[in-house]
Amino acid sequence: MGNMKYFHYKNGQLYGDNVSLTKIAKLIGTPFYCYCANAIIDRCNELKEAFSDIDVLIAYALKANSNQAIISLIGKQGFGADIVSLGELERAKRANIDGKKIIFSGVGKSEEELERALNLDIFCFNIESEAELIRLNNIAKKMGKIAPVSVRINPDIDAKTHAKISTGKSENKFGIPYKDALNIYKKIADNKNLNAIGIDMHIGSQILDLKPFENAFTLMEQLIISLRNEGHNISHFDVGGGLGIAHGQDEKEPDIRQYAKIIRRLSKKLDIKIILEPGRWLVGNSGALITKVEYIKNGANKNFIIVNAGMNDLLRPTLYEAHHDIWPILEVKNHNKMTADIVGPICETGDYMAQARLLAKVEQNDLIAIMNAGAYGAVMASNYNSRGLVAEILIYNDRFDIIRERQNIDELIRADKVPNWIK
Ligand SMILES: *Cc1c(COP(=O)(O)O)cnc(C)c1O
Repeated sequence: MGNMKYFHYKNGQLYGDNVSLTKIAKLIGTPFYCYCANAIIDRCNELKEAFSDIDVLIAYALKANSNQAIISLIGKQGFGADIVSLGELERAKRANIDGKKIIFSGVGKSEEELERALNLDIFCFNIESEAELIRLNNIAKKMGKIAPVSVRINPDIDAKTHAKISTGKSENKFGIPYKDALNIYKKIADNKNLNAIGIDMHIGSQILDLKPFENAFTLMEQLIISLRNEGHNISHFDVGGGLGIAHGQDEKEPDIRQYAKIIRRLSKKLDIKIILEPGRWLVGNSGALITKVEYIKNGANKNFIIVNAGMNDLLRPTLYEAHHDIWPILEVKNHNKMTADIVGPICETGDYMAQARLLAKVEQNDLIAIMNAGAYGAVMASNYNSRGLVAEILIYNDRFDIIRERQNIDELIRADKVPNWIK
């Protein structure tokens, strides 16, 4: 397992780097997310290394994990940001990421968002529709600016990933159909406050097979050649994100050097700058969600391990039928196993972390770690069932810092206002 390097047993206890997770739990309680900074730094270096001889901008897709400490850490490695909202734009700014390294993606950019991004002189707007193109041109005109744009092309490729994270098929809401591409670039050329500088795609997330990428790149290559023949100055190709990670033992990560090799060939052939938008691949394996067993319940047909983390803390199993390995915090010396559903306290049947999982026998009050939860974990958390957002911890060698305080119930209730007429 890739992350055994960062999460490992020492003296019978699970550690993140050189910090005992039991120790953190004693100090701050459970549940909590913890991330190993070294796992993230190593990933950044691996990616930089693989692309070292390519003209590339690596823009971290903030939505995977937008804690300010994580963005700052990745920004410090020289990376830019791929953002999808005003909130993410402000986060990137406050993490000192240069506007010139910011890419704005997403299908629903509001006027306010476009205006702010224009003000910050971001590197590129990844346009997803003709209506967006017109809106951006109008705003840029009012501000006396020229907006650098790229069009997200939907290559109608099946990324062979879960339906809820597949984005590059014709039935998905994302991008502009491949066949309409030449037309839309013509329209951009007619809009004086837009400047087409690139082209982009993003076919999905958690993609473990490089073949769909290769197929999409081949299509995009032909399109780039056609666009250039028509006089459009396409100087970069943004290949999106989507590289998968091994969430469990039966998944195998794609080889990053192989991925780089495919892109290198393309980049050289077209003499084009490359933009990468990795999210999950950078942070996914760095994190775990630590939770406590509240009860063991033996149902009529199944055993349930009821833990204190729920689908409001980690939605992935419910939303994507995602697998997360589950490790006990105390190393199991005897080999007693049990098969159980690991479920949360939320009043929903869909509230589970794992189903029919064979794992080392655990007992009430034991701690367990839900592994590979660094991406699309904390960021998707909600207050459902009036549960406060959990704390987040960053471990670095033998130190750890709270990078997000646990949200207390007062804070949660205070945001609501009861009109006087009810009181
Ligand atoms: C979500 C997203 C990414 C990042 O996807 P990962 O699978 O986390 O790498 C990149 N680009 C766009 C446009 C996205 O929507």
